[in-house]
Amino acid sequence: MFSLKENLMLIIGSHLSSSKGFTGIANDALYIGANTFQFFTRNPQGGAAKDINVNDVQKFLQIAQHHHFQKFVAHAPYTLNPCSDNPKTREFAKLVFIDDLKRMEYVPGNYYNFHPGSHVGQGIDQGIQMIAALLNEVLSPDQSTTVLLETMSGKGSEVGSTFKEIQAIIDRVNLKEKIGVCLDTCHVYSAGYDIKNNLDGVLEEFDRIIGLDRLKAVHLNDSKMPFASNKDRHEQIGKGTIGLDAIVRFINHPKLKHLPFVLETPNDLQGWADEISLLRQNFND
Ligand code: FE
Ligand code: FE
Ligand code: ZN
Repeated sequence: MFSLKENLMLIIGSHLSSSKGFTGIANDALYIGANTFQFFTRNPQGGAAKDINVNDVQKFLQIAQHHHFQKFVAHAPYTLNPCSDNPKTREFAKLVFIDDLKRMEYVPGNYYNFHPGSHVGQGIDQGIQMIAALLNEVLSPDQSTTVLLETMSGKGSEVGSTFKEIQAIIDRVNLKEKIGVCLDTCHVYSAGYDIKNNLDGVLEEFDRIIGLDRLKAVHLNDSKMPFASNKDRHEQIGKGTIGLDAIVRFINHPKLKHLPFVLETPNDLQGWADEISLLRQNFND
């Protein structure tokens, strides 16, 4: 199914609007030259998700197959916080998680990415326990979706800005085979992992603490903020503190080049088309 040619092709896309359904996403992806993408499962600030339109999904699956789309990433709303100190917020997180995973089965075998959470003063250890507890409630052996923990910048009381915190969550999850990691280049650089000057060292550390086999997707972003600032401000590729050279080394790294890369850069469709074309030109297949 996975031909040699596809295997050597850069898998790249951007975060797209889901307002026109799955076919709308597919059309935007084709327009910008993407073969993967990301979208929010519902309004990023929370709220109800739109009903799944089976016709729309059917059309999408045909387009995706015809154009050799690779696995995509669905992103949970930002308001989903499994380690809030408010029981209502934790209950909301659980309901959204269960509902989203159910809906993901209409498009089986893809990724569901979420921000681990903010412990809001309860402490990192308590946060880790609560995040793992939620995962143990919502994951099921039958699901075809892999759930991704996103690496965070460490702003506020965010959990998951170190590889050790991510692994501490995974350690406590029963269905580990349903869990992966999504590395956000802007976030890890802000969190103090120097992917610009020491990519090999960062990947060795990731491999030692988490294991590179857990790394399933990358959010490919430049950063507006300095190294180790714990700030989360994305920048267009090549215009930030990480820079084009480091990003080109990143997508070409032998341990990374097979992964899906999703741009979350501040851009419009034409801007993403330009970034994708620039990165394809700089990809050695
Ligand atoms: Fe995110
Ligand atoms: Fe991200
Ligand atoms: Zn971010």
